[in-house]
Amino acid sequence: MELSTDSGMSRIVIDIGMPLVTPDRQPFDWHHYKNLSQEQLIEQKVLPSISGLYSGQTPCVSAVILSHAHQDHYGFLRFINPDISLYMSSGTRSLVEVSNIFLDTDVNLDRTETFLTWQPFRVGEFRITPYLMDHSAPDAAAFLVEADGQRLFYTGDFRGHGRKRVLLERLRENPVSDIDCLVMEGSMIGRDEGRYPDETAVEQAIYDVITKQQSYTFIFCSSQNLDRLVSIYRAVKRARKTLVIDLYTAFVLDKLSSLSPSIPQFGWRQIRVLYAYSHAQKLAEYDKELLYRYRKAKIEWDEMQSTPPDMVILSKDNRYFRITLQKLSASGKAKAIYSMWHGYLERTNMVQLLESQGIELTEIHTSGHAFTEDLKRLASSLNPRCLVPIHTFYPERFEGLHGNVMQLNDGELECTPIIGQMGLGEPGGASRSSPD
Ligand SMILES: [Zn+2]
Repeated sequence: MELSTDSGMSRIVIDIGMPLVTPDRQPFDWHHYKNLSQEQLIEQKVLPSISGLYSGQTPCVSAVILSHAHQDHYGFLRFINPDISLYMSSGTRSLVEVSNIFLDTDVNLDRTETFLTWQPFRVGEFRITPYLMDHSAPDAAAFLVEADGQRLFYTGDFRGHGRKRVLLERLRENPVSDIDCLVMEGSMIGRDEGRYPDETAVEQAIYDVITKQQSYTFIFCSSQNLDRLVSIYRAVKRARKTLVIDLYTAFVLDKLSSLSPSIPQFGWRQIRVLYAYSHAQKLAEYDKELLYRYRKAKIEWDEMQSTPPDMVILSKDNRYFRITLQKLSASGKAKAIYSMWHGYLERTNMVQLLESQGIELTEIHTSGHAFTEDLKRLASSLNPRCLVPIHTFYPERFEGLHGNVMQLNDGELECTPIIGQMGLGEPGGASRSSPD
């Protein structure tokens, strides 16, 4: 989303994500595009056409501001002109740094300012106040953006059923007043809300599976979804088992430890760290000392083999998982829990792989995005003069959430006395939805 003031002196871009789907709504695969030049990416509408934003152009965007560290919100940060300032929360910055080390995201963070939530900051003629939100990415923010006597509130991605649900309750009870324009996500609109209403239900369901388990449990979860890792750890602790995490996860949790004392850490009881060669190599390239730091929690294959029912192994759909299955000769009695968006499961052959090993798979997940009822309640509490849908496949259904909905298509510019100038920069339709 691009915003500019009446004078044209200040322009900001909020979030610069990688698409999740192509314009015909097929999964977006970056590997098909990564060899294209920046110009070709803009031409093919993969990158939004925003003048003065990218490397090699004369910079004329005041700043890029990130709501949170999900690829569909920051995945194209690497193309931003390095002379343009970036603003993000400290948690978001930590995750971008982690991705630079492990995922080769190649983001230049030299000109990064970290903001504190609820502390306003200025970018040119804009005054921006970040609000901490409940989302599956830690330290996610919404923004109140003020300029030219107008007030715009962008929700970012959020929900009201995670471990920080109180944030949404507080925002509803003490709403930001006098909002001219509310830009609100709607990923869950038109989507099945699933059988688990919140993180507590997820935690209980995971506990129910692992407590009775007589062999290994493999649990699939993103290492950056801290709410879910807390749920998993609490279930594991209650079942008196051991959570085995990989080096990458140990590093993520360590790096984000200052955000909350409840984020599980490698030194805690019932947490052990499995060293994969590829992770160890990347971590050593960054800082060799870290390999020693996590060593006291290191677990070896033979220890895992000696007590299979005790082992709850955090897993990813990658080559290392296949190696783990072999090393542990896991089949038959082992179980798998898929604690991620169902759509990811459809994109791989994981179901067939587990079936071939006789490993039973259970899906236990709740979305990182607000249910429709929570969207409606927030829109009603904030009571904006107009609402602009974003991050949804069904912008037309927002009519049922608010009396004055203004639909803007991607690339479309709106200049009205209500909201100044605003453009949705995402190519391929504003109708983009987020998986998690
Ligand atoms: Zn997100």
